[in-house]
Amino acid sequence: MGEIGAYYTDAPGGGINFNTVKISGEGGNVLLKPLLTGICGTDRGIVNGSLSFAYNPPGYSFLVLGHESLCEVVESDSPQFRKGDRVVPLVRRPGECPNCLIGRPDNCSDGNKHEAGITGLHGFMRGEFRDFDHNLVRVQDNSLGDIGVLTEPTKNVVKAFEVFERVSSRFVYNNSLSTLEGKKALIIGTGSEAFLYSLLSRDYGFETYILNRHDIEQNKKDMCAAFDVNFVNSAADRDLINGSPIDLLIDTSGDPGTIFHYVRKMNYNGIAILFGTNERAPVATIGGDDIDYVVERNITLAGSVDAARIHYLKALDCLSGWKRKYGKALDGMITGYYTPGDMDLFMHKPAGEIKSVIRW
Ligand code: NAP
Repeated sequence: MGEIGAYYTDAPGGGINFNTVKISGEGGNVLLKPLLTGICGTDRGIVNGSLSFAYNPPGYSFLVLGHESLCEVVESDSPQFRKGDRVVPLVRRPGECPNCLIGRPDNCSDGNKHEAGITGLHGFMRGEFRDFDHNLVRVQDNSLGDIGVLTEPTKNVVKAFEVFERVSSRFVYNNSLSTLEGKKALIIGTGSEAFLYSLLSRDYGFETYILNRHDIEQNKKDMCAAFDVNFVNSAADRDLINGSPIDLLIDTSGDPGTIFHYVRKMNYNGIAILFGTNERAPVATIGGDDIDYVVERNITLAGSVDAARIHYLKALDCLSGWKRKYGKALDGMITGYYTPGDMDLFMHKPAGEIKSVIRW
């Protein structure tokens, strides 16, 4: 492959460039052209140097960014894909631990997996690239259109709910009607992952709240109304979550002070899923009374990272279901289209951003 335009950084130090790069030796029986790539908190964290786990591929002094992508097949030597198919490439590539070997690199047990655009593998924010068919998931539902680019962030949410299901089976978690209706979920953050969490939370039947420490823009308020999700401004009322305690807490902020403030508002048998990461978040003190609170209520604190192929497939089903249910409102998840070369996007979040995408 010759020289192609790409967004790249020098991980983990950070920075951002858009220029032609030369990448050699990448295998793959399918040639792909990105149609859309999404920007997420992880991309910005890598660019501002706050994610020390990011690193360049061996032999390179740079890392091509991008792990959220909707691509078109340009050429295929695989019987599984044809020119023109729309596909989503998997982010995580397995190492050799037992979890990786059974197709669950999301649960890698020795850290020797790689992630495109994050850890030791070039990402998808470039004019074209090759990949192997077993790393690709086909988008079957043409009606999804651009929303297919949300498959990757949605697969994280699907996996986190798998964690929730496993953990909640350790006690009777449902209500007396054996449903989750009336149970309360609080999602910290109002970014794209938080909105995707809120959608799945509503599907499960939770009374759902999303929270930030400032007011949100009108487009996000409209989105909450369309999805039947309540917004909480914690600066206006730090204790407001409508009385009853929280059954499911999902954090997308990575801010320990905020997380533990709301852990202390959780119900017996509550489950907290930690998802957001921010190494620059202020240090918070946790006291013995916090530990007592968690222990005495059987509260589970569970980390959840990435997802496996099965979750990409379920994510596509979720997106199709949400498209049928919410129609045009779901399209509002994409709040801005940008062109390759726009660098400011990696350094500053546009106002009202849910998901910004680059059209290639
Ligand atoms: P994002 O758009 O930056 O979302 C983070 C949200 O948290 C923003 O809405 C931010 O608010 C809010 N926030 C920050 N501090 C807060 C606080 N103290 N209280 C309330 N809200 C607060 O990023 P994203 O793309 O949705 O991703 C969410 C997080 O998950 C990021 O940290 C990302 O690195 C991480 N992530 C994890 C995985 C995984 O597998 N575990 C995968 C992808 C991403 P404002 O920006 O409006 O101030």
